[in-house]
Amino acid sequence: MRRINGGADVNSVLDAVVEGVAQAVGFGVAAISYLTRDLTFHIAAVSGSAEAREQLLGMEVPLSSMEDELTVADQWGSLLFIPAGRLGDVSTGWLPAVDADASASLDPDRWRPEDTLRSPLRSPDGELLGLLSVDVPVDGRRPDQSRRELLEMYSDLAGIALHNARRATELEEQVRLAGAVEAIHSNATRSLEVTHIVESSVQPIAEALGADHLWLRAFADGERLSGTSARYPDSMAAGSDALLGLVTRTANEAWARRRVSLVRIEAGGATIGATEHATEPVVTERTTAPAGPSLDAQDRTLVAGGRAGWVPRRPPREDPEDPEQHVLFEYVRPLDAQTILLAPLGAGNDCLGYLVLLRRTGGPEFSPYEVQAAGQIARNLGQAVLNARLLEREHVLVGQLEALDHYKSDLISTVSHELRTPLTAITGHLELIEDDPASAPSKSFRVIGRNLERVMALIDDLLTLKKLTDTDTSAAAGVVDLHQAALDAVAAFRPTAQDKGITLALTPHAGPLLISGDRDELERVALNLVGNAVKYTPPGGAVTVTTARTERFVRLVVQDTGYGISPRDQEELFTEFFRSTNPDALALPGTGLGLSIVRRIVQRHGGSILLDSHLGRGSTFTVRLPLSRTTA
Ligand code: ADP
Repeated sequence: MRRINGGADVNSVLDAVVEGVAQAVGFGVAAISYLTRDLTFHIAAVSGSAEAREQLLGMEVPLSSMEDELTVADQWGSLLFIPAGRLGDVSTGWLPAVDADASASLDPDRWRPEDTLRSPLRSPDGELLGLLSVDVPVDGRRPDQSRRELLEMYSDLAGIALHNARRATELEEQVRLAGAVEAIHSNATRSLEVTHIVESSVQPIAEALGADHLWLRAFADGERLSGTSARYPDSMAAGSDALLGLVTRTANEAWARRRVSLVRIEAGGATIGATEHATEPVVTERTTAPAGPSLDAQDRTLVAGGRAGWVPRRPPREDPEDPEQHVLFEYVRPLDAQTILLAPLGAGNDCLGYLVLLRRTGGPEFSPYEVQAAGQIARNLGQAVLNARLLEREHVLVGQLEALDHYKSDLISTVSHELRTPLTAITGHLELIEDDPASAPSKSFRVIGRNLERVMALIDDLLTLKKLTDTDTSAAAGVVDLHQAALDAVAAFRPTAQDKGITLALTPHAGPLLISGDRDELERVALNLVGNAVKYTPPGGAVTVTTARTERFVRLVVQDTGYGISPRDQEELFTEFFRSTNPDALALPGTGLGLSIVRRIVQRHGGSILLDSHLGRGSTFTVRLPLSRTTA
């Protein structure tokens, strides 16, 4: 015999009740069934012949197939009597029809084979828990008032037994779930990384909530569709982008209302308990259950004048043709899912992810306690994800501050070094003049002058860099002719190029190449690139400067046949204070600021810079800037 929820006590009470009904009330057959979460009556105790017991025990009858019966019945106190013929002789057929005495057909109180007498078993607050059904009265008559009252008394007894058994099971379940929620929570709060929280939680959640499939996702910080996700089992397929979008939207809506979403998918057109399987599943229920500790009374279905506590209210059918629903069905069909539970991960006003649980066809419904536990777990995970995110942000911030600190120290040491070299030269020559004013002071003056220029150039670079790195200063708005800037830069470096025996050429261009921006800054780009090309090209080499335009852009190309830059140096070339590792280039004076200044200027003018360089063969720097809107 099947035990109700494994409890021996309740079964013996029910056995005693059916025996009592048979003996004291005088029925040949008495059966007690209890209502399961799936709205099915499960027969748990039978009295009568061995044959009747054999036939009835363990039998299951869906509530839906008895709904007509329960609504048309005559009310005998709390008993429900359905006289033969009222349902058009369509018997639910779960008790054998036995015509005891056909000759007594004229007696109005004679018990007819199709007569049905049932007593709903209810909890003290009126919830339908089961049915007591009787048949084959020993005296062949419909029961009189005193036997009805006796029957009601036995029903009350059975109702109390079922209620207590249910309460005990519920308590057991609540205790078990509370323990699981706590364990999952403390595991999650121990993790400091979102990925670890997600990955280490899936298995315990699936086990605690009896999910056949599970999918947990924490959104990336500030990004809804990416993020960390894990599935249970591992082999579960990843969802399409469309599904991700749908689930993300649903999770956000659910979190806004602090609800958990429950969707029940059923074979098309079939009723509960039917065994036929249609190819296209449809949603027959979509209901929500609160993530908080209390259950809404409105979420319960009314059954035979009382509430059935396990049963969620049935909302209207949804449209299976809806493309969004279709996306969902396509995903869950291969998983044979019957119930989908979606609980949003959230903290404060933000939805931070979601937890999706699937149960396969034929499995039990999620109980209200399981739904609540899922909501609570998801909420806890939301908080843990938020904490981990804050920690991650803090790490990023600390990293940035450290980088800033390094930058500052680099700046100080480089600037001191760069100042010391020319200042040492200046001091040396000043001493020379002081010691011996007759010794060629003009040579010393030249050296002093050159070094002062170096100092000035460094200060100039630093001031430019400061201006470019200040977040509150933007480029001045003007119109600059890039060809003219290139022309000026070539003119400025022509004497140096001539001194070094370098050919410096600019390809002529017809008409101006106008770009919008800061004149000083854009001229500096041309000066720095041409200056570097001349500086890092050995005597006898060539530097070619070209300007050109396309429909929307202007290009400045500075090509040289100089030392070239190794691939490794190229990776760091545009960062502050970087100087080449090539000894020939390193021997020449420089601050390592020129190219980082060029990069920042080009970037803040909406342009880009490209480098093509080969060690020992030369370099080509190409700057691309958007054409001024007036010209374009
Ligand atoms: P600086 O020239 O003051 O050192 P830059 O930022 O202008 O600083 O250049 C950084 C480094 O890049 C230089 O030290 C040099 O090694 C290398 N470099 C720049 N331009 C060229 C070039 N045209 N050819 C070879 N190396 C170059």
